[in-house]
Amino acid sequence: MKYISTRGQMDVIDFQDAVMTGLATDGGLILPESLPNITDQLDKLSQLNYIDLAFEIIKIFAPDIPEDNLKSIIDKSYASFHHPEIAPSIKVDDIYILELFHGPTLAFKDFALQLLGNLFAYILEHRGGCLNILGATSGDTGSAAIHGVRGKKNINIFVMHPEGRTSRIQEKQMTSVLDPNVYNLAVDGTFDDCQSIMKKLFSDLPFKNKYSLGAVNSVNWARVLAQMVYYFYATFQIQKDSGSKSVRFSVPTGNFGDILAGYLAKKMGLPIEQLILATNENDILTRFFSTGIYEQSKVVPTISPSMDIQVASNFERYLYFKLNRDSDILREIMENFNKSGGIELPCDKGGLIDSLIVAGKATTDMTIEMIKYYHKKYDYLLDPHTAVGVCVAKEFSSSIPTICLATAHPAKFTDTIESAIGYPALHPVLESLDSAPTRCDSIDNDCEAVKSYLMKSI
Ligand SMILES: *Cc1c(COP(=O)(O)O)cnc(C)c1O
Repeated sequence: MKYISTRGQMDVIDFQDAVMTGLATDGGLILPESLPNITDQLDKLSQLNYIDLAFEIIKIFAPDIPEDNLKSIIDKSYASFHHPEIAPSIKVDDIYILELFHGPTLAFKDFALQLLGNLFAYILEHRGGCLNILGATSGDTGSAAIHGVRGKKNINIFVMHPEGRTSRIQEKQMTSVLDPNVYNLAVDGTFDDCQSIMKKLFSDLPFKNKYSLGAVNSVNWARVLAQMVYYFYATFQIQKDSGSKSVRFSVPTGNFGDILAGYLAKKMGLPIEQLILATNENDILTRFFSTGIYEQSKVVPTISPSMDIQVASNFERYLYFKLNRDSDILREIMENFNKSGGIELPCDKGGLIDSLIVAGKATTDMTIEMIKYYHKKYDYLLDPHTAVGVCVAKEFSSSIPTICLATAHPAKFTDTIESAIGYPALHPVLESLDSAPTRCDSIDNDCEAVKSYLMKSI
């Protein structure tokens, strides 16, 4: 299995290079050059536990890692999860809730970032060299990335967050990690300031190369790959439970990474009848799948902050398939988008953009009502992101079993939960954080200050 760029101007590379490169050198996104159809293996795969299934799926895409090594990378990655099933599905009401929040930071991003951390460590150990990860976060990704690489050889991680502007829980999930290779930087500024510092440092190529700077952004192919596994796993569980061959997934969506994994699993033969794309008020993707017009507008802050996104960084991978893998047209479309902030795609014959994907948005009020309803009627607490997924799933009713991805544990967003149901949601992992010692350095909102901090620490 080799890898190509959506924009068609990069030489093919192998899996390990795809993992280390992140973004393709021509500015596009990395994809496998083909997606094998594994329909005839589904019966056999449906018998496996999560870890064995992960091994079978991931090994198709990583032939350049010896099987024994890959197995131990995967074992290590999911050993940190708190649930024996790793990704259990619970039937609540008429929807299966696929709980993806049993990892170390209680959000689905652990599935990808635990694996990515172990892949980085393996590749660096075998090829030599080191990696200094620099990131900027307003919440979930930073802590999942820190937990993915803490204590790993040849890797340091530096995560900037806007001082006093992330939630207390999210800040503590980062700053309570005391491993010597983890550096938390509280920047005296906003999230945008953190991002612009990051952009400046990455564009300083001599500096970037000298200090082996790298990123763990949401476009890394290994992240999408790790997320494909739970679509297979959940489909098999629900097939057994419901007796139905096909299933639907509802996916709370921001950067289009999670739903893309489902889209690719379907392409490999998994019987997914429909993907329901759920957004909050930041609805660029909902508008696209309803009209064909992809047009940026301003980000509005909501109670599901990990979905407060306007330009979805993984969307280009979808467009590539939508355009029948025509990189020339894709390049033109992306150039137009960068110039004008908008593009339009024609609908299919049936008047749809995609017969597989439907999309809808849930407002803040609808989301809070759904949290209350599930709590009162079923004694089940939805986090605000998952509640968006449930709201939109209910808009598209069907007799086919529906699985909603639960992307975070409600205790991570305890202020919203408390205002909805009158008391906070709890989780033992988060409670123990209260008394945990922390390490964090304050730093000026200034590129040069961050640069000298890095040089001094590396
Ligand atoms: C990141 C995140 C999402 C959005 O996932 P994408 O892959 O960016 O679409 C949804 N919910 C939670 C809790 C997240 O952390």
